[in-house]
Amino acid sequence: MAGLAIITEACIGVKDRACVDVCPVQCIYEFDAQKNTLFSEDEAGSGVIENTHTPNPDSIAIFGNTLLYVNLDECTSCTACYQPDVCPVGAIYSEEHVPNGSASTAKYNSEDPNKGHDHTFFIQLSRDVFGD
Ligand code: SF4
Ligand code: SF4
Repeated sequence: MAGLAIITEACIGVKDRACVDVCPVQCIYEFDAQKNTLFSEDEAGSGVIENTHTPNPDSIAIFGNTLLYVNLDECTSCTACYQPDVCPVGAIYSEEHVPNGSASTAKYNSEDPNKGHDHTFFIQLSRDVFGD
C-alpha cells in the first residue's frame, strides 16, 4: 500500500513521540524491555495502553527501545505523521520516499540530518520487528 509510514535512523535517541500524538489509529509503538512488549498509547506518555505486540527477538535486538516502530499492518497511510511540522528530526517518511542513498532519490524532508544515507533497511525492520 502506498504511503505507509516508516521511522528511520534519525529517531534513534530522540524518540520525542510527537508522531504518536498525531496518529489517529495508535499504530506507532514503543518497546518495553522489561515486559518484552511493543506497546502503543492513546496519547504519548499517558500510560494508557492502546495495543500491544510481541517483538521478534532478533529484530528488536538491533535497536531496542532507542526508536519507535510503526506497525505497517495497522498504518492507514493517513499521512499525518510525516507532515514536515511533526517530527523534529525528519525521521519519518512515506514508504516510497525513504532515502536509498542515491542522488536521484527524492528526499521527503530536506532538514533530515541523515538525508542521502540508505534508510531502506528500516522498511524491512518495520515489517520484521512485530512478531505477532
Ligand atoms: S516524531 Fe520523529 S523523533 Fe519523535 S518519536 Fe516520532 S519518529 Fe521519533
Ligand atoms: S501514516 Fe497515519 S496511520 Fe500511519 S503511522 Fe502515520 S499517523 Fe499513523
